[in-house]
Amino acid sequence: MTTYLFPPAPVNAIPVQGDTATFPIRRIFCVGRNYEAHAREMGVAPDREAPFYFTKSPDTYVPSGATIPYPPGTSNYHYEMELVAVIGKPGFRIPRDQALQHVYGYACGLDMTRRDLQIAAREQRRPWDLGKDFEQSAVISPIVPAARIGHPASGRIVLDVNGVEKQASDLSLLIHGIPDLIAHLSGYYHLQPGDVIFTGTPEGVGAVQPGDRIGGSIDGVGSIALTIGEA
Ligand code: MN
Repeated sequence: MTTYLFPPAPVNAIPVQGDTATFPIRRIFCVGRNYEAHAREMGVAPDREAPFYFTKSPDTYVPSGATIPYPPGTSNYHYEMELVAVIGKPGFRIPRDQALQHVYGYACGLDMTRRDLQIAAREQRRPWDLGKDFEQSAVISPIVPAARIGHPASGRIVLDVNGVEKQASDLSLLIHGIPDLIAHLSGYYHLQPGDVIFTGTPEGVGAVQPGDRIGGSIDGVGSIALTIGEA
């Protein structure tokens, strides 16, 4: 029997609506600049050729409804409201027309970002980890199974801060939709149950401060909330 020097980190798991069983997180993939208007606000021309990704550790997961401290090392802490797709069936080099069979369900996500550190890394051609893959940076709402809601390809995606609307778009404006993302990503990784994909944020990203309350929703998928506490 394996023994450990100290207790292994717990497995983070996302609640599933209508089920007592939870969804254990294996990996978190995030798609960059997947709405044209967001690419432009980031000062980059939209690229329709192929998606690109960064990752977050499963350890960064935060359930919707939490209050989290303002993170260290930043003075430009941003929200990014996103549709999240979660994988329930393994696959490698998945054909586009079979991709949705691998999706267990969907959730709302907040890809919390230290924007100043991300931009500095981008300009220096360094990895984005300090700006993206930091503690409590992946907020995810309870999962709704695709068996219940189907596979959303359109519908409003919105976010407000303290009740003031900041992001409002439609899933139909994703540059790379869910089938394209799964077909592409599975060419580089053997996708596994537990894998989570943040599909990218629309325009309107911005900074939050201690005391701010973030709310977001996606038609047919659900809603998400986050409160920012003191540093
Ligand atoms: Mn994002």
